[in-house]
Amino acid sequence: MHFSDYPIPALMTIAKRPELVFTRGQGAWLYDSENKRYLDFIQGWAVNCLGHCHATMINALTTQAQRLINPGPAFYNAPMAELASLLTRLSCFQKVFFANSGAEANEGAIKLARKWGRKFKNGAHEIITFNHSFHGRTLATMSASGKAGWDTMYAPQVAGFPKAELNDIASVERCIHSKTVAVMLEPIQGEAGVLGATREFMQQLRALTQKHNLLLIVDEVQTGCGRTGQLFAYQWSEIEPDIMTLGKGIGGGVPLAALLARDEVACFEAGEQGGTYNGNPLMCAVGVAVLEHISKAEFLASVRERATYFSHVLLKVSNDYGLAGERGAGLLRALLLSKEIGHEIVETARELNPEGLLLNAARPNLLRFMPALNVSEDEIDLMLAMLRKVLDKLA
Ligand SMILES: *Cc1c(COP(=O)(O)O)cnc(C)c1O
Repeated sequence: MHFSDYPIPALMTIAKRPELVFTRGQGAWLYDSENKRYLDFIQGWAVNCLGHCHATMINALTTQAQRLINPGPAFYNAPMAELASLLTRLSCFQKVFFANSGAEANEGAIKLARKWGRKFKNGAHEIITFNHSFHGRTLATMSASGKAGWDTMYAPQVAGFPKAELNDIASVERCIHSKTVAVMLEPIQGEAGVLGATREFMQQLRALTQKHNLLLIVDEVQTGCGRTGQLFAYQWSEIEPDIMTLGKGIGGGVPLAALLARDEVACFEAGEQGGTYNGNPLMCAVGVAVLEHISKAEFLASVRERATYFSHVLLKVSNDYGLAGERGAGLLRALLLSKEIGHEIVETARELNPEGLLLNAARPNLLRFMPALNVSEDEIDLMLAMLRKVLDKLA
């Protein structure tokens, strides 16, 4: 079928989408309705950690779908308990609440911190967040985000999110007063262009929050679940946060997210948090299958190996084309362009023939790569050969 055969006008415009309809996927490849295939280095925005339609996920989905899809949020189910238990064994947290999106998990984190502040800190409720950060698209998470223009888009904002500067501990200290309850950050700011908090900054933040009796919240929606080569990015800095949120990779492509907290912090009481689909067995069964797969030591070692290789070959491209280098952690990486040609590269790459390449320009002057965590060296080589073709074309 051709693009114009689909009833596209019925959809609200929420993003500039290319005139393509994708109909199937396998591993590193997506196929459009005219059977052109595309090498996918976006993977649903760092979501499909096992690539498209991995057998492990299909098996978990079909098996669970035949057993039980929805007992309802007021009842326990087995996959929900199993996934929570698995997450607590793999992290420094003891309590889990499931959600359907990263933004919803972050909303939960904000509510939990405010509840904790009301109960233990004299009604403190302000959460310090960072310039250029991204925490989601609900009103509260947009207010927590530090994206330019988001403060006025749906004004008035939700109050109580003073902004500090990443890797500048004095800027955080300046925001602290009697109403402060927490500091919340992404260990690597993905949407801002793969900007990492340093190990030193993470440790300073942990010490500062402990000194002032504040909660440290890590938004690992993008950096969690093996993306950086550790199961969770906070592990790189050898600190233990109080609250963590997960999304994206935890479901490998199905809508699943989680809010994790230390025992003493998990202070919701019955009736204070919930949602119709939260902890539904279909998504949680997939979460168990994905997490069992990606948390294996060999799997995480292979992510680190491929990341080293990827970083090395990206740097080579940068040197060959006089670009500004590369950065990132694990398989969340950015190639820094010396000009604002990111969007042109994305379009030209997609339009390559006979096979296209799907890339993301998180900022106009850089490309962000979010391949499946099981991407092969051959696929990385092929991607870079295609990227070189694009750079030659644009030269
Ligand atoms: C994607 C993302 C979110 C939002 O997740 P949704 O599932 O789109 O709501 C929040 N925080 C970070 C760091 C993200 O990358």
